[in-house]
Parts: sequence; C-alpha cells; structure tokens
Amino acid sequence: MPYYIKKLLSFKTAVAALFIATSSCAYAQTVPVLPSSPPPVVQLAPANKPMTIVVDAGHGGKDGSTRGLFSREKDVALQVALLLGQTIEKEIPGCKVIYTRTEDVFIPLYERIDIANRAHADLFISIHCNSMPSNMRGRTGVSGVETLVSGSGRLGEQDAAVRENASILLEKDYKDNYEGYNPNDPESFIILSLMKNAYRRQSIKLAGLIQQQYIKVGRVDRGVKEQSLAVLAKAGMPAVLTEIGFISNPTEEEYINSLEGREEIVQNIKNAILEYNKQMIIN
Ligand SMILES: [Zn+2]
Repeated sequence: MPYYIKKLLSFKTAVAALFIATSSCAYAQTVPVLPSSPPPVVQLAPANKPMTIVVDAGHGGKDGSTRGLFSREKDVALQVALLLGQTIEKEIPGCKVIYTRTEDVFIPLYERIDIANRAHADLFISIHCNSMPSNMRGRTGVSGVETLVSGSGRLGEQDAAVRENASILLEKDYKDNYEGYNPNDPESFIILSLMKNAYRRQSIKLAGLIQQQYIKVGRVDRGVKEQSLAVLAKAGMPAVLTEIGFISNPTEEEYINSLEGREEIVQNIKNAILEYNKQMIIN
C-alpha cells in the first residue's frame, strides 16, 4: 500500500468511509473515494541507469493453476518467461532482467512484487495462460490474448482476477502479508482498490503496446483489462500481466508449447517494451 494511503487510512476507517460513500454499490464495482492526493510522479530511469525488468512466470510448485490436454500453465509460463528474459538481455542493450522464479517452485504473490520493488525495477511483466472453466460449453473454441493491469475491477471482468488471486489461499501467512486480504471476502476488493496502482497510466500504455504486437501477428485481440490483481496491486512501477493464449483451446495450447509460438510471443513483448521506452522518452 502506498505510504500516504497507509498513513491516512487505517483498515477500519477506510472501510467505514467507503460504506458511507458507496452504500448502494456492489463491492466489486466500487471505486474507492480517497482523500485527494497529488498524482504520483513517475521517474523514468536516467539515461545512464540500466533498465531493470522483472519477468514473472505465473504460478509454480504446488500451484499449477490451469492445464490443457497435455501441458500445465505453470510450465508454459516458466518456459516463456525464461525465453523472454534471455531475449530482452540479448536484444535490448543495457537492460537487466530479474526473474521471480527460474524453476518449478511456489512463490507467494506478495514476494513476486517485493522482488521488483526491492530491485527498484522499471517494469514488471507477469506471464500467464488463460483458460475457460471446464464445465463451460464450447470452452475449447475460445481463443485470444489479453493483458491485464491493476485496477478497481469492473463487472464481468472479475473471472481472471478471482482465479489468479486464489493462489493466495495456498500461502500460509496470507493474513499478515496481505493486511487481511482474503479472496472470498468482499471487503478485500476494497482493500485491493485502496492499494491502487500508482503507475496505472504507464501500465495501460505498456499493456496496449503488447496487445498491438500480438494483433500484428494475427492473434485474436481480447484487449487490455483493468482488474483487481493482488500480484500487481503493490507494484511501485508499471506492471502488467499478459495472458499469452488459452491453454483450454487445443490450437492455442499447441502454439504456446511450440518453439515458434514462444519465440513469436517473446518477440511481441520485447517489441512492445522497445516501443514503450521510445514513447516514454518522447512524452
Ligand atoms: Zn495464471
């Protein structure tokens, strides 16, 4: 949680204030009313400071998350993340990559973003695969790519957020680490909203550029979405979570498991980073 929010609002007073301000609204749709504060100043890395990018392979270890006919999300995410990191270091001069994991281990969500915050990273990119629920008719036909940024969440866009945040339940100390966050508790949506990403605008910019690159190579565009994602909520830098394809769609499962597909995805993300840097320098 940003320091100024922490200082101004304790958990209880924040919740009470929100109850008064938005008593007729559903929690998940609520945009919290915060005391006005100056917009965050985003410092670009000085030209002589090497850019640091944290590449996060989603899930891992006991948290395998979604699976397709022959592959698991945690394995695909790891392989694509490693290839992305290697490609960035090779093809973006002076860029340093930090991985949240390089093997099949479980890393709590808060620790992933902590790694990025401690390193004063310039970007955080989380790699995931999408999936339709196993009981949904026509689930194998759904395809496409989407990139998420941390936001207050909007009606109908909660599915991925709830699923991705469910990893928290696998962590023993989640109550301490998330200041009481529990994915099944509606109040937790308010807390996540209070921890709103100060780097929202930059995150949306990067997410849009990633989607543009995917579209260029013919992927189905599911757009940029704002959701309440715990993994991104405390990011002190622009942060995105990109869903590189549906593991529940046999064609896309083949694609995200092929070397050709992985290289294409990685090139798309790398090109988006280059374009993002160019645009941030101009603006
Ligand atoms: Zn995932």
